Amino acid sequence: MDNILTIVGMQKSFGKSLLYSLPMFLISFMFLTGGRPDFSNPASGIALMVVFLFVNLLYFLMHYTGKTDRFRAVLFIIFALSLSYTLIHNMLEVRKSMSFNQADILECKIPFCHLVIPMMLLPAAFTKSIIFPGSIIGGFANISAMVVLWLGATLVLGRGFCSWGCFYGGWDDGFSRVRKRRAIKQISDLWKWMPFAVLLMVMLTAALSLTPTYCSWICPFKAVTEFEQVTSVESATKAGIFLSLFGGLVVVLPVMTRKRTQCSFLCPLGAISSLSNKITPFTVKIDKTACTECYKCVEVCPLFALSKEGIKEGEVSLFCSKCGKCIDACPKKAIHYGIRGIPAGTMKNFSRNLFLFVSFLFMAVFSSGPIINTLQGVLKLIF
Ligand code: SF4
Ligand code: SF4
Repeated sequence: MDNILTIVGMQKSFGKSLLYSLPMFLISFMFLTGGRPDFSNPASGIALMVVFLFVNLLYFLMHYTGKTDRFRAVLFIIFALSLSYTLIHNMLEVRKSMSFNQADILECKIPFCHLVIPMMLLPAAFTKSIIFPGSIIGGFANISAMVVLWLGATLVLGRGFCSWGCFYGGWDDGFSRVRKRRAIKQISDLWKWMPFAVLLMVMLTAALSLTPTYCSWICPFKAVTEFEQVTSVESATKAGIFLSLFGGLVVVLPVMTRKRTQCSFLCPLGAISSLSNKITPFTVKIDKTACTECYKCVEVCPLFALSKEGIKEGEVSLFCSKCGKCIDACPKKAIHYGIRGIPAGTMKNFSRNLFLFVSFLFMAVFSSGPIINTLQGVLKLIF
């Protein structure tokens, strides 16, 4: 009897998850194909359908299993890898090299990325000039479209952008999952304020020098996209900084701490996104009546957004990227996705379903292009 009830329960939950997944299936199909899949080129047709089905399978599994983070992370990490592949591939085609020179910078032949946004703010406000807007290499989204997308996502998701939209975040997210246990257990969470200092420094130096200081000197992701030709002591110093920051904050520290250290300690855009968490409709809430203060959530949070003191007060800090890791880990289901204005502990399923639909759709649409592109490249190599 128990077995029959279990099977009936599974079938019900399967049907319900399928129903929840149907809107994503239809809308992502429209976005990816424009309603008319084109199979005139078999490699691109196959890549498109494989990615479409894979993305929708992940979304279905989020509903069916009730777990969020592991399926989000799969797409998020593949997104980061395929974006780097696509950028490098396009740059090799366009300029036959992964490196750029000063002339490329002056002619804005460097692909635009969202990390540039903090450098544009002060110069745009005070000098009415936008420095280093970058250019479109290999047919990427145009600059204004990308700024509008980032702004829209940030206003809706807040720092959720860092776990559902950023095409670099998957790098340290991925490396933070390599080990099962943390080799370094103690790491001061005061470092989480560092991105605000970086943000201020980048905005001021970019405004004073009208040069892209973060891109020129700090960005660790230069190591996996493009880098300045090493022709002088200055360019060698820059290359050393890029590689050290990538190695340290994106690879080694995430592996040792199971935390996303680049996002937590350096990224200036993460600082802006954190501030936007104050106004976004979607939040993560703690139901104090259900919480037993076991602090499993504090342990697993990759972005130092939770503390024991905060849990006692029922507070999630502004550093939360809404990744869902703490929600999956909580044995009492006391921490959950919520909507501003709705009390903690109520309408949990509705809030989760709505948040997942919005955030996953954003990631699916944004990530599919580079993933399809990468898969096409792999298919071409095989056939
Ligand atoms: S994991 Fe759940 S029960 Fe434990 S402290 Fe966090 S919210 Fe409370
Ligand atoms: S508080 Fe939870 S949802 Fe927010 S970043 Fe930490 S683990 Fe992710």
